[in-house]
Amino acid sequence: MADKYFELVNSGFTATLAKKLGLPRPARLRRWDASADLVPGPLLVLGSSAHGQQLSDTLMSWGVDVRRNDAGSAKLGGIILLLDELEHPEQLSPLMLRAGKALRQLLPGGRVVSISRPALATDAPAVAAVRQGIDGALRSLGRELRGGAIANGILLSGPAQADSPSVLSAMHFFLSGRSAYVDGQFVQVSGHEGELPQSFAKPLEGKVVVVTGAARGIGAAIAKTMARDGAKLIVVDMPAASDALSKVANQVSGTALQLDVTATDAGERIIEHARSRYGTLDLVIHNAGITRDKLLANMDAARWDSVIAVNIASQLRMNEQLLAAGLPGLRVVSLASTSGIAGNRGQTNYAASKGGVIGMVRASAADFAAKGGTINAVAPGFIETEMTAKIPLGTRTVARMVLPSLMQGGLPLDVAEAIGFLAWDASAGINGQTLRVCGQSLVGA
Ligand code: NAD
Repeated sequence: MADKYFELVNSGFTATLAKKLGLPRPARLRRWDASADLVPGPLLVLGSSAHGQQLSDTLMSWGVDVRRNDAGSAKLGGIILLLDELEHPEQLSPLMLRAGKALRQLLPGGRVVSISRPALATDAPAVAAVRQGIDGALRSLGRELRGGAIANGILLSGPAQADSPSVLSAMHFFLSGRSAYVDGQFVQVSGHEGELPQSFAKPLEGKVVVVTGAARGIGAAIAKTMARDGAKLIVVDMPAASDALSKVANQVSGTALQLDVTATDAGERIIEHARSRYGTLDLVIHNAGITRDKLLANMDAARWDSVIAVNIASQLRMNEQLLAAGLPGLRVVSLASTSGIAGNRGQTNYAASKGGVIGMVRASAADFAAKGGTINAVAPGFIETEMTAKIPLGTRTVARMVLPSLMQGGLPLDVAEAIGFLAWDASAGINGQTLRVCGQSLVGA
């Protein structure tokens, strides 16, 4: 986030002044750097879990200095909380209190990751209580962190264990700089399948990826991030955006497809393009989206219908065509929004479409799994784009203050990183989920 306020409170004598005045000072977030260590210091693992030792072994194979249960007074790059064996809320105390003390040793950009289980209606009440309690505790813990540190959780479901490939992929994502703007979130792993990448620098090596709405904004950032991670790109946008689209295609050494995603044959045209140029299709990212904001009392049919048509109806139709094509192992990631979770004044149409995306991925998971694939969504919050840069500085600064622990908006790159992680082979056990990339915004659940 390079803007005047951020620079002023973080550099030179104005930083000292801002500190003395008690002004909010957003930290520089730790983002992905393939040449950097996974975490900025030793990792303290607290608690126990079946396969916890295998998890520690894998962490060590990633070059992490793992300390089981005791790190002395060392500064810490992260803390892992193994909580999946707890059966009563009273058992939380010793682990959470030890974690609390260790938080004082957490370095800037540090990470807290919990492993627990989802609370189910079929659980014994005490078991469900502790499991749901972990959800509340971890989100609260995240709000207490400073210096760009974040806290997230992994939920083990069905056959998933602490060393399942998708648990390890989620662990790598949450520990790394890729998750810089994901805070207070849980990812549920419900399968044991998947394979870790040969190199986490190129986790999408050779994958053929389609990104819709890729001529600018978040879509262009997704295309560039996927290319950085080894993918071959097909970038899609409206014919009217053809110049910008060609530029992005050149930047990522990919091919451009001019296409309105609301066309009834949009899915078929994407498949045809991918097959003719690359022989296959591995991943589709439904990013194209529009807003036509108006209070519902003043809403007209054109505004409502166009948002539904672009943001959700087109995706439902394209998914049917993608499934019918029988592409083995196809992955889909769709763009939702925190507006679709929490609601937003003036956005009933947009929130209906983005809530729709969340419902769509949940209900489509089984169909994609039947073909060896997955479908998930990412819900961005306040993302710093050309659009938000036009908001007056004062209003923008206030908007960021509702992001209490990170105190800044995210970048398009942060959204792209989360999408990439959900597309890794190793994330095969994560399906039907919506991952928020929102800096634990107060807006939303
Ligand atoms: P943007 O307006 O900058 O870019 C959207 C792109 O989609 C444009 O290039 C546009 O030409 C293309 N597009 C629109 N309609 C299309 C159609 N019918 N067919 C093909 N392409 C079409 O938007 P953005 O801010 O980059 O947002 C990208 C996605 O992220 C959207 O789905 C948006 O709803 C979602 N999102 C954005 C934010 C944010 O803060 N920017 C927050 C939450 C969700």
